[in-house]
Formats: sequence, C-alpha cells, structure tokens
Amino acid sequence: MAHIAIIGAGLGGLPTAYELRHLLPPHHQITLISDSPTFTFIPSLPWVALGFKPLESINFP
Ligand SMILES: Cc1cc2nc3c(=O)[nH]c(=O)nc-3n(C[C@H](O)[C@H](O)[C@H](O)COP(=O)(O)OP(=O)(O)OC[C@H]3O[C@@H](n4cnc5c(N)ncnc54)[C@H](O)[C@@H]3O)c2cc1C
Repeated sequence: MAHIAIIGAGLGGLPTAYELRHLLPPHHQITLISDSPTFTFIPSLPWVALGFKPLESINFP
C-alpha cells in the first residue's frame, strides 16, 4: 500500500488529491495537508474585490 501526502490544498494540490483518489485503487491512502481549513478559487478573487461575487461563492471547506 502506498501512502501519498500532498502538501498544499490549493489549485494544484486539491485537484491532484481528487484525481489520485479517482485513479488509484482504494487500498492506497491519500492525505491532503493544508495550512488553511478552506479552499479558495484564487482566479475568481478579482470578482470578489470588484463586488461581483461574494467571497463565500469561491470558498469552501
Ligand atoms: C488574482 C489571480 C488570478 C489568477 N487567475 C488565473 C487564471 O485565470 N488562470 C490561471 O491559470 N491561473 C490564474 N492565477 C494563477 C493561479 O491561481 C496559480 O497559478 C495557482 O493558484 C497556483 O497553484 P498552486 O497549487 O501552485 O498554489 P496555490 O493555489 O497558491 O496553493 C498553495 C496552497 O498551499 C498552502 N500552503 C502554503 N504553505 C503551506 C504549508 N507550509 N503547509 C501546508 N499548506 C501550505 C496554501 O494555503 C495554498 O492553499 C491567478 C492568480 C491570482 C492571484
């Protein structure tokens, strides 16, 4: 069994974790480590800054 640790749950880390979970057999363990309890979709931050979107719409646990 492999235990894969992904450090950083941003635009690179979060999709990588989901993709590996999808591709690998279930006996392999994947741990996603973040310094933040929430994910923010960074490319949409300008829309929040300009008032076109609320922060909650691009943020999730
Ligand atoms: C305003 C803005 C708009 C953008 N628009 C686009 C766009 O339209 N298209 C595009 O392709 N790119 C865009 N980008 C660039 C894109 O957001 C970055 O290329 C992308 O986020 C990089 O992904 P990453 O996973 O390397 O880093 P990040 O997404 O920054 O993720 C790094 C993660 O690591 C975490 N972390 C940091 N230190 C630690 C630690 N010590 N322990 C645990 N976790 C840690 C952080 O909290 C963060 O969640 C934009 C960037 C900005 C700022």
